Amino acid sequence: MNAVETLNPTNLAQALKAKANKNVVAVAGGTDLLVRLHDRITQPWPKLLILENVKELHKITVTKTAITIGPSMTFSEIENSAILRKKALQLVTAAASAGSVQIRNRATIGGNIANGSPAGDTIPPLYVLEAILELSSAKGKRTVPIEKFFTGPGKTVLKPTELITAIKIPNRSNHGFFMRLATRKALAISKVSVAVNIIMNKSKVESAKIALGAVAPTVIRATLTEEYLRGKEINQAIIDEAARIVQDEARPIDDIRSLAIYRKEMVGVLLKRGLESVTTNG
Ligand SMILES: Cc1cc2nc3c(=O)[nH]c(=O)nc-3n(C[C@H](O)[C@H](O)[C@H](O)COP(=O)(O)OP(=O)(O)OC[C@H]3O[C@@H](n4cnc5c(N)ncnc54)[C@H](O)[C@@H]3O)c2cc1C
Repeated sequence: MNAVETLNPTNLAQALKAKANKNVVAVAGGTDLLVRLHDRITQPWPKLLILENVKELHKITVTKTAITIGPSMTFSEIENSAILRKKALQLVTAAASAGSVQIRNRATIGGNIANGSPAGDTIPPLYVLEAILELSSAKGKRTVPIEKFFTGPGKTVLKPTELITAIKIPNRSNHGFFMRLATRKALAISKVSVAVNIIMNKSKVESAKIALGAVAPTVIRATLTEEYLRGKEINQAIIDEAARIVQDEARPIDDIRSLAIYRKEMVGVLLKRGLESVTTNG
């Protein structure tokens, strides 16, 4: 194997300066990237930009209106964050259900997003929480709503000279759930996932946001199902119909993890279970 050259910035300015070289590849937890690079062990590796010691990327800050999550926050840290447990339970549940303890201690939210997999578990929660991504380069920064970030499986609008430097969600009470289905509970990538954020006005749905993972080239919103639920009083018949509509919104494929027909059916089952649980638990 060839020697691996690494860059080890200790602050964001140094990291962005290093990333101005578009051939330099950022590494956060390495749980996606190193697996990919391992497959080309006999070929030269790119120069690696280690983000681990860049403190600006590894914190959560809270204001009255927003919660800003640093991209280097690990799944375990998200799972254990008091503010996220209170305000973004969908994201906490997703982080807590991914991989294994070892993976969750390394895997970061920024890596999950930048990797661009439609099965990335933190992405559906970020859709329904209306996350805004901050993308920075040595030349400046821009913001992109998460729904506009992905252009296809593994494809995003991130430029080679940019890093994700923050993930911002509104600081407000959120009510909903995240559910996933995989071959087994640990160490398996989702076949299907569903995240929901729901606002109730007394017993009626004021608004519902629904995002589906692993059933299309990118995570998608189930807008027809959202529209169907708006203004409705939730009961079993409404839940059953929502579960039927959402199946038609999924556009899955057959792949190594599952069959399209099964994924379509399961997306309905997960939505149904989730809606039943939020309406039963208030
Ligand atoms: C055994 C195993 C089980 C897994 N299980 C799950 C699972 O259940 N659910 C799930 O969603 N994923 C799972 N994964 C995939 C992986 O752990 C996650 O996608 C993880 O979040 C990747 O984060 P990372 O920090 O390790 O990223 P890295 O591997 O370090 O990087 C991934 C990509 O993101 C880029 N990147 C990282 N940080 C930034 C940044 N700040 N700005 C711009 N680009 C950046 C890197 O350049 C690279 O292209 C699993 C992986 C393994 C090996």
